[in-house]
Amino acid sequence: MKKKTAELVLLIFCITALLSGSGIAEGAGIITMQQEAEEQLQRELGAFEITANQREMAKANEAGYPVLDAGRGNPNWINTQARYAFTRFSDFATQECERDMSVGAMAGHAQKEGIGDRFDAAMNPENSTDAFLIAAVDYCVDALGLDKDSLLKELADAVIGDYYPSPSRCLPCTEVILNAYLQSTLYHGADLAGETMVFPTEGGSAAMVYIFDALSHNRLLRAGDQIAIGTPIFTPYMQIPSVKNYGLVSIDVTSTEAENWDIAETELAKLEDPSVKAFFLVNPSNPASHALSEHTLRRLVQVIEKNPDLIILTDDVYGTFSENFRTVYSVLPYNTILVYSFSKLYGVTGWRTGLIAMNQNNVCDRLLGELPEEDREFLRNEYAIVTSEPDEMLFIDRVVADSRSIGLYHTSGLSTPSQVFMALMSLTHLIHAEEDPYIRLANETVHARYTALMTALSLPADDSDQNAQYYTLVDVLALAESHYGTDFAAWLTESRTEIDFLNDLAGKKGVVLMYGPGFSAPEGTVRISLANLNEEDYVEIARRLFELLEDYAVEYEQEAMKDAA
Ligand SMILES: *Cc1c(COP(=O)(O)O)cnc(C)c1O
Repeated sequence: MKKKTAELVLLIFCITALLSGSGIAEGAGIITMQQEAEEQLQRELGAFEITANQREMAKANEAGYPVLDAGRGNPNWINTQARYAFTRFSDFATQECERDMSVGAMAGHAQKEGIGDRFDAAMNPENSTDAFLIAAVDYCVDALGLDKDSLLKELADAVIGDYYPSPSRCLPCTEVILNAYLQSTLYHGADLAGETMVFPTEGGSAAMVYIFDALSHNRLLRAGDQIAIGTPIFTPYMQIPSVKNYGLVSIDVTSTEAENWDIAETELAKLEDPSVKAFFLVNPSNPASHALSEHTLRRLVQVIEKNPDLIILTDDVYGTFSENFRTVYSVLPYNTILVYSFSKLYGVTGWRTGLIAMNQNNVCDRLLGELPEEDREFLRNEYAIVTSEPDEMLFIDRVVADSRSIGLYHTSGLSTPSQVFMALMSLTHLIHAEEDPYIRLANETVHARYTALMTALSLPADDSDQNAQYYTLVDVLALAESHYGTDFAAWLTESRTEIDFLNDLAGKKGVVLMYGPGFSAPEGTVRISLANLNEEDYVEIARRLFELLEDYAVEYEQEAMKDAA
């Protein structure tokens, strides 16, 4: 299949070459073309597919080293507190159902009447999991003002999963908890919890898909519209606008290392053009792992003065890894749709838990009201099957409806046990009046690995607040140059593509890293994930990387000697 694509690309190259009259007959020309075709294929293959090949090569590496795979962002830690609490609470809720009716393996539903008292009686404050659940419920009642029986009934039904999610968008007490979590971790003091609507989804990935679908279906983004993408960016995201035939034209708003991975003024200025309808970013970014500076956030506020209809879509999954993080949503709540995922911080990639958050007062709802009458008529008909007042339907509710092709709106929404799990993860954070020790630990964990790696690579560490240190981009060519000189680096550029280098690193040394240009990062860069290996492994990765450069240096010197002879 891949081979076929390569051949097809080669064929197109040949035809193009013939048409343009260039010398296809020369053997050397064909080789160059084949190389070009392969490079083109590599560019089209996402960084993730390239790494899949290298993972195979690494297994049979020539040195016989144990494989070190720092490619994926899946963390190698999990949060235990939320998991223990989930099973404990699930047992409590099952017993509540048995109180209602119990015959063999069959039970009834949890009942609200007196559930708070029964919860108090069932929990043992001496047990750490029970103590957490007690503290969590107390927090919800005292700090969030939730009614204890209503909360426990909602959570009990939800963890049992014996009712469809209702309302579909988000369970009510759960929404209050999620809002408090987002406010505490991402808003940097801005008080928006009371005015934010949340839609829990099957991870951040589903959130993105749902948002793009709904923006396109609701004609807020149309074929031919320009959308700006903050690059370098998580590869699959780069492909969304083109792959699904939305016909969107994407322009890059690029961050560079020279700007410490912040967005330069000239790039920000692109967003002031009203023909740019949306700006899509990951903050802190992936792969560069940096959060936007206060200065850039202030500039974005000015951008909106020039382009007030701009829809900003921000994925803040790494927000808790950056000190004093501040989301774009907290400075521009009207224009921003926020996506968050629990996947990384809590080690729950298999759970698929993420969310969409939007302000009650938002640009999407205004733009829906300003659509031409023919579009409004089209959308009225679309949503009439699920609401008697389709014109009044909020954008976020349309996102929910569209996630199940509108027709199945009544069975939409995230599975209720997943919603409980999200609430519990949030509460492990919220119960701490001061610093959350778990978030501190996660940050210290990646920080120690980052420090070990940078020290072993003899590279300066960037310990600024903005650096989330979940990933780092390393410029291998710069490393080759600083250790072996300019001539060697030039030779390396000539004799090896970056993919060759990554293949050698995998096939010869058993190390899997990710291809930076696959994320639109500069040529010569590799992404190293600091989430999925232990500290000493990063020292070993650096050692093997230098070992490979050393092998290349030997080859380079042999060639140089041959040339001299
Ligand atoms: C890992 C990651 C996520 C998490 O996605 P899920 O679907 O929630 O697992 C989201 N955004 C970015 C940029 C990521 O790197």
